[in-house]
Amino acid sequence: MNTSSSALPSPALIDKFGRKVDYVRISVTDRCDFRCVYCMAEDMTFVPRQQVLSLEELALVADAFAELGVKRIRLTGGEPLVRKNVLSLIEHIGSIASLDELTLTTNGSQLEKYASELKAKGVKRINISLDSLNPQRFKQLTRTGDLAQVLTGIDCAIAAGFERIKINAVILNGRNQDEVIDLVNFACDKGIDIAFIEEMPLGLIDEHSRKLSFYSSDDIQQQLSQQHILTALNEHTGGPSRYYALANSNSRVGFISPHSHNFCHLCNRVRVTAEGRLLLCLGNEHSIDLRAILRNGGDKAALKLAIIDAMDLKPERHHFELDDSPQIVRFMNTTGG
Ligand code: SAM
Ligand code: SF4
Repeated sequence: MNTSSSALPSPALIDKFGRKVDYVRISVTDRCDFRCVYCMAEDMTFVPRQQVLSLEELALVADAFAELGVKRIRLTGGEPLVRKNVLSLIEHIGSIASLDELTLTTNGSQLEKYASELKAKGVKRINISLDSLNPQRFKQLTRTGDLAQVLTGIDCAIAAGFERIKINAVILNGRNQDEVIDLVNFACDKGIDIAFIEEMPLGLIDEHSRKLSFYSSDDIQQQLSQQHILTALNEHTGGPSRYYALANSNSRVGFISPHSHNFCHLCNRVRVTAEGRLLLCLGNEHSIDLRAILRNGGDKAALKLAIIDAMDLKPERHHFELDDSPQIVRFMNTTGG
């Protein structure tokens, strides 16, 4: 019997709430050169290397999803660009003909070195995290990051000519909420987009209280409206961002508001952690172990069947609470943001 699910009608990935899954985010490493205060503990312990999927295993996972009708793959981490030889994986995924796009989320620290190669190997769009334009503050928020290096990385990404570049900024009350307008003006000056993200309670941190640092998208929008005219765009990326156009600029402003504007009914995505756990929802633990399938002799056909079965596990929604005891103990770097 042919167990290959390539014979299945496409798209094969529909969950039990009727949502079509055509987007996967793959974390290629949980390691990172930064230690952002909302993402990690300062003395983070990383997963032993042998427990992380090899580049060959990651390629097989990407192939399996693509054959199941997934159209977009985003590589993330940890910091994807600190994974040794990650460009070979990027080249592989960039050449999967059925994909509409390969994208990447990065902290920007390695973009001076890699931006043009990423573009050449098929990365279409890139998200770069930037929470502050003040060097000292940037250092405090990232603990180890160097603002000048990231700004150079952003310029290199612009020079490389990606279809779109977007800044991701996590805004924390009392830390960088006063930079919202400056960050938008920076994005406008550079001709790139920006999205503001509400901090999510992923992983136990003691650096700050997530409850006290909560700063809502509505507060950000209100600040922006003092200087900018925002017009809601009816673009649905099938994702959590709500986008706005800015008068007199081609830059768009997005809001990712897991607390204040639940977007679960539109969810079209799943995630694969660096250890090969297929996570059906960022804010729940429903998952299956793809690594176990691969390391117990399973092939791509077995992976595909497991992925199809896993769709029934996708929960209807997340229930993030503004509470300092997180319901989800895994940190964002293992999850893949
Ligand atoms: N290292 C890369 C980077 O920083 O862009 C990719 C991985 S990082 C986990 C992906 C995104 O998740 C970043 O934009 C980061 O700001 C965001 N992030 C991390 N922890 C978060 C949290 N607890 N709540 C909301 N966003 C978070
Ligand atoms: Fe690293 Fe990105 Fe997490 Fe910051 S947000 S610690 S850059 S993985």
